[in-house]
Amino acid sequence: MITFHQPLPPADLATVRDNWLRLVEDVAKAAADAGRTAADVQIVGVTKYVDPPTAACLVAAGCHHLGENRPQKLWEKAQWMQQQSSDPDRIRWHMIGHLQRNKIRRTVPLLHLLHSVDSPRLATALSEVVSDSREADAAPLDVLLEVNVTGDESKTGMLPDQARQTLESLLAQPAIRVQGLMGMAGIAADPAECRRQFATIRQLRDDWQSEYSMVLPQLSMGMSGDFAEAIAEGATIIRVGTRLFAGL
Ligand SMILES: *Cc1c(COP(=O)(O)O)cnc(C)c1O
Repeated sequence: MITFHQPLPPADLATVRDNWLRLVEDVAKAAADAGRTAADVQIVGVTKYVDPPTAACLVAAGCHHLGENRPQKLWEKAQWMQQQSSDPDRIRWHMIGHLQRNKIRRTVPLLHLLHSVDSPRLATALSEVVSDSREADAAPLDVLLEVNVTGDESKTGMLPDQARQTLESLLAQPAIRVQGLMGMAGIAADPAECRRQFATIRQLRDDWQSEYSMVLPQLSMGMSGDFAEAIAEGATIIRVGTRLFAGL
């Protein structure tokens, strides 16, 4: 168990632990319904709504994978955890939002997984920074390509053709390892529509695996409102925020 040097607010700790345990249960149920097991689905607790001590309540409850959508917030919380937690190396950081190119250098060393490669420009900049700042024998940076399968212009992520070109360009980059795809369902989508959109993402993944003879093991899809649909369609990572911090 990861503990903290600074005392955490007991009421928040109880609420967040309760939310976490219920989420773990619901994820196991959704996995079982899909003929999968809970171990097939990694939960990333999205801490963007809360301050570091509240995020620490989630870590103390047992959630060791944390996600942030803004680089500065990720830096801030990672530093806080480094100073305050008993075992900071067991906390794994996921960047799930847009990463500006001038923030790559500072963000990449903190990351377990970058979910949000959302443009060819970012992919190119990542390749440059990662290959010139890493030791020759360092592990590659694991990334996901963020795809927009609804075609909605206001949404983040790459259209499928652009994502394919980005995948091809990164195949030639040993310092970066594409592990799969990330995507979101449309805001107004009902459960059946969410499932169709998640199925489209999985299908892209399946097609590219056979086309490029490679393994793309990770599908990051599903949030508080639609993780069951995502798990039914093969999500291996879900990103949940609102539900974990409800009732604070
Ligand atoms: C905020 C956010 C989430 C979490 O969504 P909730 O509905 O709060 O669970 C997931 N993914 C991304 C990219 C986010 O920005």
